[in-house]
Amino acid sequence: MGRRILFLGPPGGGKGTQAKMVRRALGVPHVSTGDMLREAMASGSDLGRRAEAYVSVGDLVPDELVVALVEERLAREDAAGGYLLDGFPRNLPQAEALAEVLGDEALDTIVYLDVDEDEIIARLLKRAQIEGRADDNEETIRHRLEVFHGETEPLIAYYGDRVRRIDGTGSVEDIYCRIALELAS
Ligand code: ADP
Repeated sequence: MGRRILFLGPPGGGKGTQAKMVRRALGVPHVSTGDMLREAMASGSDLGRRAEAYVSVGDLVPDELVVALVEERLAREDAAGGYLLDGFPRNLPQAEALAEVLGDEALDTIVYLDVDEDEIIARLLKRAQIEGRADDNEETIRHRLEVFHGETEPLIAYYGDRVRRIDGTGSVEDIYCRIALELAS
């Protein structure tokens, strides 16, 4: 069994960017619930239509929908040798569901990207101009941060000493080096 890593951090914390770099280095699939939900919305599937109302205002999509999505994804053959989860689990019930399906071994390392709030807001507003993601407007960003503090942050205590806290500020390369060092130790 290869590495089973979770990228945890605030919206705009750089999870997706770093996860893609780590995926290339480790050769395990990058499983991003945000990307999967955006694909579902773009394709107009039943799941996409149901998710849209939540994603557009920055709420979490109901647990049963994302749990089913991830369960199906992790059952595929390419995930048998490890995976890199990005954006899931995002609350305690999702973490418990993951542990129920895959056991306590579901994750070996949790990379927590630590970025302060002013920096996050600045990054997301900039991303809004470049990528035009519908949920990157100031009101939704503030709501996503509230959801992060209320629902996702408790996972840091839940995962305890498997969590590696990484300074998520600086250049993309510097942050990647910090993560690579942690994952190697
Ligand atoms: P960010 O971390 O910048 O908010 P993501 O792409 O991870 O971006 O998530 C975008 C949106 O997709 C979230 O605001 C939420 O609505 C939905 N989403 C992603 N992952 C989950 C999840 N595990 N559970 C519920 N909703 C999710």
